Amino acid sequence: MSLQREAVPDELPDGSKKKSALPWVIGCLIALVVVPAVIGFLGVVAAIAIPAFVQARNRAQLESCLTNLQDINRAKTLAATQNAHTNGTPVTMADLSEFLLRDGTPTCPQGGTYTVNAIGRDASCSAHTTSFSPGSACCPSPAPAPEPDAAPAPLENSP
Ligand SMILES: [Zn+2]
Repeated sequence: MSLQREAVPDELPDGSKKKSALPWVIGCLIALVVVPAVIGFLGVVAAIAIPAFVQARNRAQLESCLTNLQDINRAKTLAATQNAHTNGTPVTMADLSEFLLRDGTPTCPQGGTYTVNAIGRDASCSAHTTSFSPGSACCPSPAPAPEPDAAPAPLENSP
């Protein structure tokens, strides 16, 4: 019984040279480096994109909700004008159905409940805890214009 390995011939029976195992090893090494790098890159992209997507979705839902509140307030104004309601007159969503721009009861995209409130008070949403008004979260008031400096810097006279 011999413990020596038999020599492996370099040529295959068809006469071609046997391929070396080296490219396979290089492929494995590249895979070990590239696959984690790609996974890491995708993780970084996801870490950046997902919060931005969530923020954009929340902002779109808020703006949709504020549009609904604006529609409800506009309908209240129309209802008050047509029915000669005064401030403080209670109204319901059913009273406003014929004045709303869209068919059906408006619904908050985040599941909030709209409170119509009486004539003269803005409608509100339970999910967004805000009523529609200029300067609300949707539409921040523009920053005040900076005041001009009291004394402009004197110009230097160069000789
Ligand atoms: Zn809402």
